[in-house]
Amino acid sequence: MSASDGGSRAAGRWHRPGHAGSSAAELVAEPGGHVVVRDDRAAEVASVPFSALMISDRVGSIPRRVEFPDGSVFETRDNDAVDAICHAQGRTGTSFVYGLERFRPRLIVFALLAVALCAGLYRYAVPALVEVAVWATPPAVSRAISVGAMTTLDQVAFSPSELPQDRQNGLRTDFDRLAALAPRAGQAGDGPRYNLNFRKGGAIGPNAFALPDGTIVVTDELVTLAPDDDMIMGVLAHEMGHVDHDHSLRQLYRVAGITALVMLIGGDIGAATEDILMQGSALLVLSHSRDAEREADRFSVELMHRAGRDPAAIARFFDLLRDRFGLDSELNFLSTHPATSQRIEDARRLARELAGQPDSSP
Ligand SMILES: [Zn+2]
Repeated sequence: MSASDGGSRAAGRWHRPGHAGSSAAELVAEPGGHVVVRDDRAAEVASVPFSALMISDRVGSIPRRVEFPDGSVFETRDNDAVDAICHAQGRTGTSFVYGLERFRPRLIVFALLAVALCAGLYRYAVPALVEVAVWATPPAVSRAISVGAMTTLDQVAFSPSELPQDRQNGLRTDFDRLAALAPRAGQAGDGPRYNLNFRKGGAIGPNAFALPDGTIVVTDELVTLAPDDDMIMGVLAHEMGHVDHDHSLRQLYRVAGITALVMLIGGDIGAATEDILMQGSALLVLSHSRDAEREADRFSVELMHRAGRDPAAIARFFDLLRDRFGLDSELNFLSTHPATSQRIEDARRLARELAGQPDSSP
């Protein structure tokens, strides 16, 4: 060692693993990055690369511990010498702290990535899973979900319709005519795609909703509220639109949770369906998204136009609800099919556009 790096040696005590007590020793930083420990007879007892050492922080005058890979410890009160050795080796801190400092930016990046991943999962992966699940859902599962939901709703909310039978029959005939004109009517060959059910809504009041298999329910209260049958058909066509676009299934899957979705996509249909069935009655409280409402409105306007009925009937129905209850009312139909003046206006504009041109559909 030259005089210029006379700070590169420190006197202290040498502790060997498994040996009680300690002996006087000297720690020397050799040129080339090696650190050597010599005992009081100048015999070399350890020689390792500096990078292999763990050196404790400088805290007041507490002795520094320099740990060797084999568990030996060199202990010294010569803090300045240890710092000088570290400095000469290009470390600003000690080994342990040095490692942490090197790790911390990576830790922060990792944590940020984890947060971004979770956010991304909810933003993108769940909607993607929902789409896959909707696509992968066999008709039998849609049917089971719908039957389950209907059973629950009949137990907790509805009672049998009190509409006269010939009134029901008349509406059902009109409904079936509409359904026959719907875009996907007659596809897949698994029976009628839409079927109409009448129920007394009771506390639920004027309402209509659609289940994933095409079951559509209208309450006596809604039938009684509507001043003309076009309005009732406009609402029912809107519900057909929700079926056609699989909105109810999407709604259910969105609340079913990732586990049920993964089970469903993975083919564990029994357990997944059970999970989703539990949520079936949630269809009466979950609101459709604004986009879903717009799609269902468009479906209603186009279908009504095709059937030669008033295409603006759905807009007139929402006008009626607005005038009678206010769009912000607690009315169940309005909370599950959120309406805005903009939406009503959009439906009316589309109806006007269609009325102004000849029907181009087959
Ligand atoms: Zn709707």
